[in-house]
Amino acid sequence: MTEMKNKGILLVVSGPSGCGKGTVLSHLFSNDKSFALSVSLTTRQPRPGEIDGVHYGFVSREEFRKNIDAHNMLEYTEYCGNYYGTPENRVNELLEQGVNVVLEIETEGAMNVKRARPDAVLVMILPPSYTILEKRLRSRGTNSEEDIAKRLARAREELANLPEYHYCLVNEEGQSKKTADALRAIVVSEKSRICRNTGILEHFYK
Ligand code: 5GP
Repeated sequence: MTEMKNKGILLVVSGPSGCGKGTVLSHLFSNDKSFALSVSLTTRQPRPGEIDGVHYGFVSREEFRKNIDAHNMLEYTEYCGNYYGTPENRVNELLEQGVNVVLEIETEGAMNVKRARPDAVLVMILPPSYTILEKRLRSRGTNSEEDIAKRLARAREELANLPEYHYCLVNEEGQSKKTADALRAIVVSEKSRICRNTGILEHFYK
């Protein structure tokens, strides 16, 4: 059996656009090298302040398709008219080094990861309510009305996948640090699961 104790956890974090998962994750990563974000590729345009190679790798549709054809993607999907996907190599390298790798991806991609990597831990971050989600999307000011409508419709579809997830966390207003702490606690618990520590007694008796 494989000794998984020293490997990182593959953590899939989903949540409707506007649920605040970006802020939660920035708390998770701040001053903690045991977590790393997998930088996705996308064909959407960068938002103000977004940096190529940090928030996403921003690529053309043609370049994205090339990566699919070369089997470089752990998963990918089309979301609101753009491609989004996870390059696989970097994820594996980090997991081998014992780093917990976070995939911040929507539900279709999450279901694909669940199938391909049964040891992945899936967490859904929820806003306190649908009304608050709508308010947050509008207050961002960077999405058009059409895009907001698409994202709200998509939110309903995504929430229907909740039973497929292992954990859910409600990200209360102004409590993103607390939500990040809860996420950290999930990883601590997962690391202690017997199935991730199959060689522990051999180590104990040696
Ligand atoms: P946004 O355009 O707001 O940055 O992202 C839109 C949605 O795409 C979000 O739900 C985000 O989690 C998801 N997303 C970002 N990267 C990936 C990816 O690599 N794969 C998948 N399946 N979804 C992604």
